[in-house]
Amino acid sequence: MSSNSKLHAAILSSPGMGHLVPVLELGKRLIADQDVAVTIFAMSSSTSQAESQTIKAATTPKLRIVEIPPVDISGLVDPHTAVFTCLAVMMREIRPAFRSALRHMAFPPTMLIVDLFGTESLPIGDELGIPKYVFIATSAWFLSLMTYSPTLDKEVEGEYVEQTEPLKIPGCRPVRPEDVIDPMLDRTNQQYSECIRIGVEIPLGDGILLNTWEELQPTTLASFRDETLLGGVTKMMPVYPIGPLTRPVQSSRPTVNEDLFDWLERQPSESVIFVCLGSGGTLSYEQMTEMAWGLELSQQRFIWVVRPPTTKSADAAFFTSGNGDGDHSSYLPEGFLTRTRDVGMVVPLWAPQVDILGHPSVGGFFSHCGWNSTLESVTNGVPMIAWPLYAEQRMNATLLTEELGVAVRSEVPPWKKVVGREEIQRMVRKIMVEKDGFKIRDRVKELKLSGEKALREGGSSYSALSQLSSGSKVMQDIKKIRACK
Ligand code: UDP
Repeated sequence: MSSNSKLHAAILSSPGMGHLVPVLELGKRLIADQDVAVTIFAMSSSTSQAESQTIKAATTPKLRIVEIPPVDISGLVDPHTAVFTCLAVMMREIRPAFRSALRHMAFPPTMLIVDLFGTESLPIGDELGIPKYVFIATSAWFLSLMTYSPTLDKEVEGEYVEQTEPLKIPGCRPVRPEDVIDPMLDRTNQQYSECIRIGVEIPLGDGILLNTWEELQPTTLASFRDETLLGGVTKMMPVYPIGPLTRPVQSSRPTVNEDLFDWLERQPSESVIFVCLGSGGTLSYEQMTEMAWGLELSQQRFIWVVRPPTTKSADAAFFTSGNGDGDHSSYLPEGFLTRTRDVGMVVPLWAPQVDILGHPSVGGFFSHCGWNSTLESVTNGVPMIAWPLYAEQRMNATLLTEELGVAVRSEVPPWKKVVGREEIQRMVRKIMVEKDGFKIRDRVKELKLSGEKALREGGSSYSALSQLSSGSKVMQDIKKIRACK
């Protein structure tokens, strides 16, 4: 097939590892499975080493990555502005540069895909006469809440967290008030209006791609296709579950963190718990102390990615992931590092998560429940301790513990008060050694197989991606004809 007769997807990624990682995987799948040419537009990050390294490593002759220079939003936000608002503002401000880059492409795109924060760029697809899609790199349940939020905005009075009943979304699991996503916690905050706007804009695309799979969330996905329910979406529209899109575990031994992988090699099978709170997660000083004691008391082997404690929000490290020298001796309990020297590894700031989760010695994941981390755990068959911190992670934790049965969580919500060492010890032991953790460990292995099946030729996600590429061709022809009339 000559390149000009080929489909060419232009994909816009928001900043942040949690957005970049799934967009890159989507690009790779479109190339490998559908023979679609792909150009990814990502904002080059001056603040996150992890992002710039990931962009560099992902660039291949087939996967073109165009870096859009970062925009200065200092006059539009202040140091207290929520991450959600900052991302929305950045993606609004890059539109002129993105439009111009698209218009000047030698090989023009035939479809446009934007992620959650890029929905204001959907009209550029219309300007170019090409179909446009939104890629929601998280769960189907999250999508239903986002697209139903404009309705909730009209129907619910007062703050959502103060409601006495769960929020009902047609055909979907209701959302408990304490689980609502961060931008819906305060209706007077700018992030709330940005969230409602995005909820209105998502259905303006020609379809929605989701990083989940049919067999993982069958009820929620079915509700999108039932015109009496619509799962919170405001009109019938194609929803393509194409996941799990996760970075593969490297086939050869990673060349970074060699000591860590040497140590992992020496540990028994499934004996190590990995503790990592995403690209942005931080804990308070008090919570870090309890975490350290909980790990030590559990008497389990562990790898812990630590960041300096903070009194700021739980996502305080979002724009700086992987940076700094990471001297952690000053904020871990006295003697902790010496006492746990033989059973634990403490890694400052950042670790190659996927390669660790994919290592046979790892048997549990203490996670903040970001959706990428969730899928990386499931696709490696690793059970979880759900420790949600920010964004939509409380919903993810509920899904993982109450619907999918692959995680445990603390009795006391970590965002309400400090969770004590005994509770941390209890959870670690439950997923690593206790008999009543068997079911959880078995269930996650079943889901791992189900995810693999979905991605194989003939599987549900493989087929959904094929439908997307063939559908986009038809859609493009319709748009061309309309443009000629
Ligand atoms: N990640 C990593 N090493 C770390 C922390 C995070 O490789 O020390 C990666 C992780 O594997 C995942 C991404 O960063 O792919 C985080 O995305 P997620 O959606 O889990 O959470 P977010 O960081 O967006 O909250």
